[in-house]
Amino acid sequence: MHLSLYNSLSRQKEIFNPIDANLVKVYVCGPTVYDHPHIGNARSIVVYDVIFRILMHLFGKDSVLYVRNITDVDDKIIDRAKELNISIFELTKKTTEDFHQDMTYLNCLPPNIEPKATMHIAEMINIIEKLLVNNSAYISEKHVYFDILKATNYMELSGRSLEQMLYGVRIETNEAKKHLGDFVLWKPASQSDEASANFDSPWGRGRPGWHIECSAMSHKYLGENFDIHGGGADLIFPHHTNEIAQSTCAFPSSSFAKYWVHNGFLTAGGEKMSKSLGNFITVRDLIKQEIEGDIIRLLLLSSHYRKPLDYNKKAVLDSEKILNYWYRAVTNIDLTKLPSIAIPNNFLTSLYDDINTPLAIKIINDYAKNIQTANDQKTKLHNAASLISCANFLGLMTKPANIWFNKKLDNSELINSLIAARYKAKQDKDWSEADVIRKKLLDMNIITEDHKDGSSSWYKKHN
Ligand code: AMP
Ligand code: ZN
Repeated sequence: MHLSLYNSLSRQKEIFNPIDANLVKVYVCGPTVYDHPHIGNARSIVVYDVIFRILMHLFGKDSVLYVRNITDVDDKIIDRAKELNISIFELTKKTTEDFHQDMTYLNCLPPNIEPKATMHIAEMINIIEKLLVNNSAYISEKHVYFDILKATNYMELSGRSLEQMLYGVRIETNEAKKHLGDFVLWKPASQSDEASANFDSPWGRGRPGWHIECSAMSHKYLGENFDIHGGGADLIFPHHTNEIAQSTCAFPSSSFAKYWVHNGFLTAGGEKMSKSLGNFITVRDLIKQEIEGDIIRLLLLSSHYRKPLDYNKKAVLDSEKILNYWYRAVTNIDLTKLPSIAIPNNFLTSLYDDINTPLAIKIINDYAKNIQTANDQKTKLHNAASLISCANFLGLMTKPANIWFNKKLDNSELINSLIAARYKAKQDKDWSEADVIRKKLLDMNIITEDHKDGSSSWYKKHN
């Protein structure tokens, strides 16, 4: 079975042939750690987590090297630290820890290597020096700029003209640049910057541009040529376009990444979820609402990774229903009797076809249906084994069914106190308050039944 992936560079689905099947090398642009990740950022992490799992299954666990960086030096970080009146280090350390917690909550595996930009300044300087030596970069007004006219096929990845792309991107007009599209490799320190935001360089104290960070870190851990480079579609231009330009100019025999994979946007009300638009929901927000990580993860995989995916309450409820259905299908199954099976081929085939997770999810759902319609125990067990192994493959259903359902009943303290409050409201003949509490309980899927003697009982509604 072959894995095929849509390559943004060739704009078509291609059979994935790694440069060396003994070590498949993947680089994904990670977070800029100034704030909690929103669920659009999480979509990107979850998508590449699934690709990581597929590659490990195909090539072997020790034959995949997955590098995902942390951008811990950036203007947004400097500004946020100032705003919060804390040091940059304090901000990036805490945000990175929170990011890790959030991604663990979504059952994402850690990458093999997670390099931090600030630990790779020497490597960045090294590449910039190469670019200056071979004239692909120039110094102007204390900045070092990349000269985009020196790059061959500069616009190949985006497939658009530079004019079209520059039109949509915020580019500072700057007389120091030879060309409007030239971008910063190194910029000088600003007087108001905290010392930790700046580093010594042959061009004075300052800090690197964002794009050079990924060129330096991918080169250090994966070499001049590697297999897959991923990130959200918003990174195609200018970030990935500039990474290609720098890396191939600094290492002229290199073709940099062979396959470029880009995930589509998570939207809210049809618009890209983003910090700048303010229409974002963080993973933290959902954790606070006690929405299980599996539910968010299933939601993020429910649409094909290249298509837009709209986030809304109904989508969360739908994902919860699906997971409840899967879990319910195996609640009465004796898991000690499950046959040991290989991951079913039709399920794998769906994922190998450019990561068709909607189809993979449908296949899991069919196993749940089959368990319910099967007449004999053997068929039930076989379908249950298939269901669990496929769901686990996608990083779902990682809890046993009783814990999944009990966890919800952990709310029982809250439920009991609401029932007691409602009982009191009824005693006080405060019917509107009693109704408000009933509605609250209903929102938690708790149905209350009033008895003639004034007492109430409750049960959990199954979807
Ligand atoms: P950032 O921290 O903004 O650099 O984003 C980190 C990663 O999340 C990048 O790969 C972005 O392309 C991706 N990303 C940001 N917003 C969204 C979104 N709304 N939907 C999907 N991916 C996104
Ligand atoms: Zn990057």
